[in-house]
Amino acid sequence: MNIIFLGAPGSGKGTQAEILSKKLDIKTISTGEVLRKEVQEQSEVGILAKSYMNSGRLVPDELVINIIKNRLSGDDYKKGFILDGFPRNMSQAEKLDEMLKVINKKIELVFNFEVEEGVLIKRILGRFSCKSCGAVYNRFFKLPKQEGVCDQCSKGDFESRSDDTEETINNRLKVYRESTEPLIEYYKKNNLLFSISGVKSPPLISEELVKAVYNFSK
Ligand code: AMP
Repeated sequence: MNIIFLGAPGSGKGTQAEILSKKLDIKTISTGEVLRKEVQEQSEVGILAKSYMNSGRLVPDELVINIIKNRLSGDDYKKGFILDGFPRNMSQAEKLDEMLKVINKKIELVFNFEVEEGVLIKRILGRFSCKSCGAVYNRFFKLPKQEGVCDQCSKGDFESRSDDTEETINNRLKVYRESTEPLIEYYKKNNLLFSISGVKSPPLISEELVKAVYNFSK
């Protein structure tokens, strides 16, 4: 299965991508994750991407297209993949179609996560994660059961993303509305779109996703 996760920042794409990729035993490519790692490692790509990410703008298409291109041609993605956070604009979507055609693949499903803006803002401003195991929390919705201790690994070191700030959030939502939202129509026209409410609990959402994948494969 080749799947795209579409949705605004904070709509839950990352959480669901992690769950679904385990359930379907396929890989996820999160361009945001890859870029954050590059920034941390201070690679050439990371140095280029940093200022865009910290101001909530999209990094240049060429950078993310190369990230996707390098991975999709590898053996790890033969069984399928979930793209989380890519494509983010029309030109990336068109480029993706071209790339997939060359390697004889196509997108089969696009999940669109719908969440109202007020909730998105709280989710983004509240989220933090465990530095050791990556478990994700939210200071408005989901605190660790014991204050300061990770539920999953019992360590106590947490971090927030450097772009999850009040300064960048409006820009990120504006970029989403202007550049990414038009992709909903694009994939609708291609009969690939499956919209899903992203405000339910993660297990319920993931159940819906699995059902949709199952129905598609029948
Ligand atoms: P995310 O983790 O998906 O919220 O992405 C974090 C940041 O990485 C975004 O605000 C962009 O600056 C950058 N980014 C991630 N994916 C893309 C993409 N497909 N195109 C351009 N920039 C991206």
